Amino acid sequence: PAALLDADFYRFQQKLTPAEQASIADIRAFLEREVRPHADDLWERAESPRHLIPGFAELGMFGSALPEVRHFANSAVYRGWVALEISRIDPSCATFVGVHSGLAMNSIAVGGSPEQKAEWLEPMARGELIGAFGLTEPGHGSDTARGLETTATRHTAADGSDEWVLNGAKRWIGNATFADVVVIWARDTADDQVKGFLVRQPAAGFTATKIERKQSLRGVQNADIVLDGVIVPESDRLQAINGFRDLAVVLRLTREGVAWQAVGVAVGAYEAALAYAKERVQFGKPIASFQLVQQKLAESIGDITASIAMCVRVSEMLDEDEQKDHHSAMAKAYVTKKMREVVARCRELVGGNGIQLDHGVARFFADAEAVYTFEGTYDMNTLIVGRAITGIAAFH
Ligand code: FAD
Repeated sequence: PAALLDADFYRFQQKLTPAEQASIADIRAFLEREVRPHADDLWERAESPRHLIPGFAELGMFGSALPEVRHFANSAVYRGWVALEISRIDPSCATFVGVHSGLAMNSIAVGGSPEQKAEWLEPMARGELIGAFGLTEPGHGSDTARGLETTATRHTAADGSDEWVLNGAKRWIGNATFADVVVIWARDTADDQVKGFLVRQPAAGFTATKIERKQSLRGVQNADIVLDGVIVPESDRLQAINGFRDLAVVLRLTREGVAWQAVGVAVGAYEAALAYAKERVQFGKPIASFQLVQQKLAESIGDITASIAMCVRVSEMLDEDEQKDHHSAMAKAYVTKKMREVVARCRELVGGNGIQLDHGVARFFADAEAVYTFEGTYDMNTLIVGRAITGIAAFH
């Protein structure tokens, strides 16, 4: 079994099964060996860690929730811990896994026909085919449910088969520059409902251009996509998706994962700041011996512990089939807010060195901003909770 993280102050990992603990130990050893030594350099060069894909696949990190492909039966709490463990070392890697396994594979698992699941899930779990998820558009981020402008028009091909023509644009789409399949969400021009399409790469009329000069999650490749008359056969439309409500199921599942990822960001910064505070000497003593420094560290571990407790419970609710949209939205909102406070405090503890990559907090400080904003901004997730507790939607 894995040694418990010191940042797991209330020993929640002890509640995982022995098999889950052993898997976490393997994953952590891999991350320490293969990811940590290179994470800052990859971030600085804005390179996606694609060479890690076979290793991640071998450790069962892709599709671990899905009975069709998972390596062993496991809980949502275990999967949350995996997201935290990756993120505490490299939030860009955690995002890569979140996009491929969480967003793209879950879209197929939730929305695919038996044939579509059979075709895609196994090769995606083996990391042989990589997925992306295209929902956000240049003009629509928070309001995709009502505003989505990309269109899908059904017509009959020359050979008599049914096909769709996609037109529009997408923005911020992770993995899209190298993915084998991009799930594109578009509005059916006949019934106005949002539908999902598996766009195999390369596709005529489809271009993905890497977004440059990002200052957060630099290890994730995000793309601007143009869809100009892209043809998709009816057999590649996600057959069980009939509107935005079905897509919302995918978002609920991944939002919970992002909450765990956010705790990982906070843990990464906290661990670096704690180590630094014990070594850095000012006024003839390690700064960790000053009361104000200890207070910042204690507040941080308190925020981390409360966040883990919330994540554990919201994941248990998934296992118990009790989880609703507002449950995962609240975890995502609360935890990302606390994450931002923790990384700011930890950055402060490392003084001037805290703004430089070499001292272990700067990358987490910068990465926190994207994690705070994607998968629904703090505001939007708060409004989903607000709608649940008041019965009034404030964002329609
Ligand atoms: P906007 O919606 O324009 O929001 C701007 C501000 O206005 C925010 O603070 C927001 O909270 C606020 N706001 C908006 N409406 C309201 C309201 N009614 N009340 C109060 N405040 C409001 N998308 C994908 O589809 N696939 C991906 O793989 C993907 N990866 C991403 C990776 C990164 C690094 C980033 C940064 C984004 C990614 N996204 C992806 C997009 C992401 O989901 C959006 O950025 C997010 O939903 C917010 O949309 P927006 O950026 O357009 O902001």
